[in-house]
Amino acid sequence: MSKLDQPAIIAALKSVLPAPDARVALHEPEFGGNEWTYVKECIDTGWVSSVGKFVDRFEQDLAAYTGTRHAIAVVNGTAALHVCLLLVGVEAGDEVLMPTLTFIATANAISYCGAVPHFVDSDIATLGLDPHKLERHLENIAEVRGDACYNKQTGRRIKAVVPMHTFGHPVDLDALVAVCERYRIALIEDAAESLGSSYKGRHTGNLGRVSALSFNGNKVVTTGGGGAILTNDPELGKLAKHLTTTAKVPHKWSFAHDRIGFNYRLPNINAALGCAQLEQLPGFIEAKRALAKTYAQVFEGIGGVRFFSEPSFARSNYWLNVLLLDRDNAAQRDELLELSNGLGIMTRPAWTLMHRLPMFSVCPRMPSLETAEDIEARLINIPSSAALGAGR
Ligand SMILES: *Cc1c(COP(=O)(O)O)cnc(C)c1O
Repeated sequence: MSKLDQPAIIAALKSVLPAPDARVALHEPEFGGNEWTYVKECIDTGWVSSVGKFVDRFEQDLAAYTGTRHAIAVVNGTAALHVCLLLVGVEAGDEVLMPTLTFIATANAISYCGAVPHFVDSDIATLGLDPHKLERHLENIAEVRGDACYNKQTGRRIKAVVPMHTFGHPVDLDALVAVCERYRIALIEDAAESLGSSYKGRHTGNLGRVSALSFNGNKVVTTGGGGAILTNDPELGKLAKHLTTTAKVPHKWSFAHDRIGFNYRLPNINAALGCAQLEQLPGFIEAKRALAKTYAQVFEGIGGVRFFSEPSFARSNYWLNVLLLDRDNAAQRDELLELSNGLGIMTRPAWTLMHRLPMFSVCPRMPSLETAEDIEARLINIPSSAALGAGR
């Protein structure tokens, strides 16, 4: 057992700061490009709201950057997930598989559909959903009838799985695709944290039938609030745009809507911000990866803790950098959080696991969620803004 060397950890965290006693946030947005110019253009021309050239351009730029055929900009990442679930046919009463270690948005979006989250354990190599454990779990509880998968224990249809690329690190997508094909389950990637991350050379969001991005203020690029749906399926792309724009049938003057749709479109003024941010994204990723490399070096050899590095098949955006305390030191997690936050260095634990939240505690789950519980007990996020890595 290696004793947790708290002074060395604080010194390592301070070594990346611009000044010795600087206060530092977990992830700050950076507006060093054309943000003012594009936002001003929206105000000067009056095109601030739900249509405009920046929405079109932002969608094209996102598709080009991620290598997907279609990107549909929406108001936030949660809305993107909600529509992704509807697009693959999730209905009230279905079950949707998802990691218990994730941000609440994944579980909320499933609930908005009247569906039930079904919690899956994580993989210590990726911090994301473990496809091998999922496969063994399905062998025990699932059966394929016709073209659909059913939970033999609850009788409900298992319609989809929503892996999440945790803190920007991609899950093992090939293994998951194989499980999905075997069990006739639709794959939706929650890529909210992984803009700029690739899996075996392809940008995340390409292997799901549909995927969700977020541009919340703390994400790699921000539109204030915002999100996007990605897909390589032209039909689903068209349907995504339709559903997120009140399902209005295009017409010069008549208001005809052919189903219950959503007012989920991203305003032009937010898209303007997004266009300016995307121009800087390659630079942000370079800086964030340089910061991660520095962290990996300074934490090397410090007792009781290790810096989490990207899985071998991935190139990660290192959205939020991760320290894992040794198991024996997990009890000191909160002490380290107190100490660092007290010094003005913002650090955070992982999210409370979904199966422990009151509204989801009765949901179906794998009998053991031990790896997610292990990660949650000893993970700490450390300052990760691109600015900290610039010029390294
Ligand atoms: C940020 C995030 C979302 C979406 O959040 P919004 O705030 O609605 O944009 C969804 N899932 C995960 C895992 C996230 O981190």
